[in-house]
Amino acid sequence: MAFKDDYNFKDLENETERFVIEYLEEAVNADPDVCRCEDCVLDMAAYALNHSLPSYRVSLLGKLYAQAKDNDDAYIKKIKKAVTDAVKKIKANPSHS
Ligand SMILES: [Zn+2]
Repeated sequence: MAFKDDYNFKDLENETERFVIEYLEEAVNADPDVCRCEDCVLDMAAYALNHSLPSYRVSLLGKLYAQAKDNDDAYIKKIKKAVTDAVKKIKANPSHS
């Protein structure tokens, strides 16, 4: 058995993903000129995630850690910046063909 089959790595969650999706929704809703197609929205999310520090946790232990991150202003600020940059980038150069 491979290591990846012995353990349930799907229980790992990147907390940053939750924040990125939440702020991306706000940013896209606030800008009527940005494309909302699947390709563009997923690329914005990917860009923002690639420019944010991941924050993995085991989903079973999630709650406390998540709340700690909710109150981490520097962390939140960086994610918002990554989302803003993602929207700008894809708006200027849409991902759809
Ligand atoms: Zn598009």
